[in-house]
Amino acid sequence: MQTSFTPAQLADPEIAVANDILRACVHCGFCTATCPTFVTLGDELDSPRGRIYLIKDMLENDRPAAAAEVLHIDRCLSCLACMTTCPSGVNYMHLVDHARVHIETTYKRPLADRLVRDMLARILPYPKRLRAAMALARLGRPFGFLLAGESMLAKRLRAMLALAPARAAAPQDLAGTVHKAAGETRYRVALLAGCAQQAIGPSINTATIALLNRLGVEVIIPAAAGCCGALVHHMGRHEAALAAARGNVSAWSAIPGLDAIIVNTSGCGTVVKDYGFLLRNDEMAGAAATVSAQAKDITEFLLSIGYAPRRPAPDLKVAYHAACSLQHGQQISALPKILLAKAGFQVVEPKDPHLCCGSAGTYNIMQPDIAGSLRRRKLDTLRATTPDVITAGNIGCLTQLAGDGIPTVHIVELLDWMAGGSEPEGLRK
Ligand code: SF4
Ligand code: SF4
Repeated sequence: MQTSFTPAQLADPEIAVANDILRACVHCGFCTATCPTFVTLGDELDSPRGRIYLIKDMLENDRPAAAAEVLHIDRCLSCLACMTTCPSGVNYMHLVDHARVHIETTYKRPLADRLVRDMLARILPYPKRLRAAMALARLGRPFGFLLAGESMLAKRLRAMLALAPARAAAPQDLAGTVHKAAGETRYRVALLAGCAQQAIGPSINTATIALLNRLGVEVIIPAAAGCCGALVHHMGRHEAALAAARGNVSAWSAIPGLDAIIVNTSGCGTVVKDYGFLLRNDEMAGAAATVSAQAKDITEFLLSIGYAPRRPAPDLKVAYHAACSLQHGQQISALPKILLAKAGFQVVEPKDPHLCCGSAGTYNIMQPDIAGSLRRRKLDTLRATTPDVITAGNIGCLTQLAGDGIPTVHIVELLDWMAGGSEPEGLRK
C-alpha cells in the first residue's frame, strides 16, 4: 500500500513503524474472511483491511481521531486472527496498538465511556480491588433489573454483573513467594501470577506451581512483579503500559539463573513476549528483549521439559478452545492438544477454531452485543463436539464460556491432575 507521510512525520519513530506496517499491506482482503467482527457485522470498516485504511487516513493527515474511527477500532477484538491469515506479514497488532494510543491522546470520549474505562483500569489490574468489586457485584446482582434498557452503559453494567462468579474464590496472594522443587531442582522459573487470575481463578496458579514443582522446577513470584499491563495497553494508555512493563522487567531481571518466565494466561503472555518491542526505545530495552525471549507459555515449557502423566486418564472428552492470544498472538496451536493427548484425554476441537469467543480482555464488557454473539457462536460449535469439559489456556476465555452447563477448566489443571495432582475444582462441581 502506498503511503504519503512527510519526512517530518517519518522522523517520529512511532510513525516510521506504522509506515512500514502500512506499506506491507497489499489490500488483498484475505484477512476479512477470518475476522470475527467482519464475520459478525459484515461491514468492511469492521474488517482488518477497513481498519487499516481508517488508521492510515488518520495518521497520514495527522489529525485527531474522529468518532467513526473510534467506533470501528474499538470494535476490534485484538484477536489477531488477521495476522495469522495475512500472506504479507502485516503486523496489525503494532498498528492497532499505535492507533489506540493516538485515539487516547486526541479523542475525548463521552462521559459514560470515560467512567467505565477508568473504573476498569483502576480495578481489574489489582486482585484485592477486583475481589471487592466482585463481592459488590454479587450483592448487586438481584437488583440487575434496575439496569434495564438498551443504552450502552446499561448493557456494560449488566455485562459486569453477569461476569462476576457466583461464589467468591479463596483469596490468593502469591507476591514474594518461592516454591521449591520436589526433589532435585532441574529448572528455576519466574511465574507471572496474573491479576484477575489470582482473584477469579486461583486454582490455576495452584495447579501450575504444584505441577512445576513435581517436575523438578522451582517457581519464584517476585514481590515487585505485577500486572503485565495488557489491560491499559489495549486501552491506549501508553505510559501506564510502559510503567507496568518496566516494573516486571526490573523484577524478573533481578532474579539470577532463570531458565524461563512462565505465563499461564495467554492474553498476558502475548504482551510479555512483546515487551522487547514495547520498550525498544527505553533505557531498559536490552533487559526487556531478554525477558521477551525468556517468556514461555506454560504449555511450551511443559512440553520442553518432558511432561508425562502418572496415572491413567479417565474417559473424558475434552474440547480444546484455542485462545486467540495463544493461537494468533503467540502462534501456539498444536502444543496444548499434544499435551492433552499425552495426558490421555480424548481431544476434540470446535468448528472455526480460529474465531474469537468474544472475551478479549475487557471487550465482553465494552462491546457486550458483539461479544455476546461471538460467545453464542463459540458455545454452539463447542457443544456440537459433545464434550465433557471445555479447556483453554486463558482465564478470560474460561470466564466467557462458563455458565452454559459444560464445565470449563484451565488446561494446566487437567495436566496437573493426570500428573498426580487433585481433580480440578471445576470438574468436582
Ligand atoms: S484483530 Fe481480530 S477483530 Fe481486529 S481486525 Fe484483526 S481479526 Fe478483526
Ligand atoms: S491479508 Fe494482509 S495484505 Fe491482505 S488486506 Fe489483510 S492485512 Fe492487508
